[in-house]
Amino acid sequence: MRFASLGSGSEGNGLVVESGGTCILIDCGFGVRDAAARLARLGLQPSSLAAILVTHEHSDHVGGVPAFAARHRVPVWATFGTLAAVSSRFEGMTHVYGFDSHDTFAVGALEITPVPVPHDAREPVQYVVGDGARRLGVLTDLGVSTAHVEASLSGCDALVLECNHDLDMLERGDYPYPLKQRIAGRLGHLHNEAAAAILAAIDTSRLMHVVAAHLSQQNNTPELARAALASALECAPDWIGVAEQATGFDWRAL
Ligand SMILES: [Zn+2]
Ligand SMILES: [Zn+2]
Repeated sequence: MRFASLGSGSEGNGLVVESGGTCILIDCGFGVRDAAARLARLGLQPSSLAAILVTHEHSDHVGGVPAFAARHRVPVWATFGTLAAVSSRFEGMTHVYGFDSHDTFAVGALEITPVPVPHDAREPVQYVVGDGARRLGVLTDLGVSTAHVEASLSGCDALVLECNHDLDMLERGDYPYPLKQRIAGRLGHLHNEAAAAILAAIDTSRLMHVVAAHLSQQNNTPELARAALASALECAPDWIGVAEQATGFDWRAL
């Protein structure tokens, strides 16, 4: 199994996972041409995607999905709640599939386990993707962790983990107060220390990769995110990867 990011942050997200000849894209917050260029950087053609899995209806995740899926005839999977929230954008498209946020399903060689998360969307999920040998956990866009989130991520071989903001930077920064409250709220985004607390709470004995993702450009730095996760794992900060908004990250193999 291998995985890579097209880009990560509030301006657009996309992550590819490949194993056993099946390649999927989780979210697409980029325009059709931009997404294709980002895939090309990773050596991928749009036609090589078996599916696009959507996490929730916020535009940095679903914004580019309808046009890309229609243009390249890629099937789309999303929770029934997410589909209900964006149904008009998928009108007339045949290969759009809904699923229950607690049901595991398969796409080719990959087993997809949705993980429901607390976030200000209709039925948001994140994903654990497995191929029978390895499991990758992807967790962004949640305000707080839950027992179910931690049980789902425990024992994974790789994690992509939201480190949205540093709490001090958010508090001292110049965002309007209501926006600060939304981001720091229970249905907002995970701060560095909360992400670190997840690592401290779960079984990390199999972890080969940890990548911090969805970093705020205003309220966080790669150094702060790395330091927080490294202290939880008692590892060197430079072992922790960071997903960039512009460039994502290159393939990592499991
Ligand atoms: Zn987001
Ligand atoms: Zn979101």
